[in-house]
Amino acid sequence: MHQKLPVEIDPFRLAKAGLILEGKLSLSSMARLSDLLIGDGEVDVKMKFDIDSVLGTPIMSGQFKAELPLVCERCTEPMKFEANIDCSLAIINSERKVEGLAEQYEPWIIDNDDPVLLSSIVEDELILAIPLVPKHSHACLPKEAWFSGEEKIDDEKPVSPFAVLAALKKD
Ligand SMILES: [Zn+2]
Repeated sequence: MHQKLPVEIDPFRLAKAGLILEGKLSLSSMARLSDLLIGDGEVDVKMKFDIDSVLGTPIMSGQFKAELPLVCERCTEPMKFEANIDCSLAIINSERKVEGLAEQYEPWIIDNDDPVLLSSIVEDELILAIPLVPKHSHACLPKEAWFSGEEKIDDEKPVSPFAVLAALKKD
């Protein structure tokens, strides 16, 4: 069963009903996340609510995909970080103990009195996914080297297959 993404949700009710929510959120709609980004974008959201058949605990399996605009710490140029998040959360009432939770779940603690913003859990997971030191996946030129005239640092340069062949032929 598919629905458009609501702003506020009752995760306990959704879990009981076994609903799936799918849709997109704009990154700029999440203030804490936006503070860490240098641009906007969208996150693909898929949330599957269910009850764990063994534990009887309400759970949410989330898949969040986004390209986060960040600054590369090496070359200080803009970069896109691909966040591909798969999370399994146990939905827990704030008064209940987190102890005894099955290892495969992280706790999603909810205060029953407040409506839950759907975006808040997506935002938390995206913030956690941001690397401590974001860097381009390719070997980009460090900013200092622009001024010192150094050659590109090739610590990530793969060994050439021709070099391997040449080494073999010597034997
Ligand atoms: Zn870079």
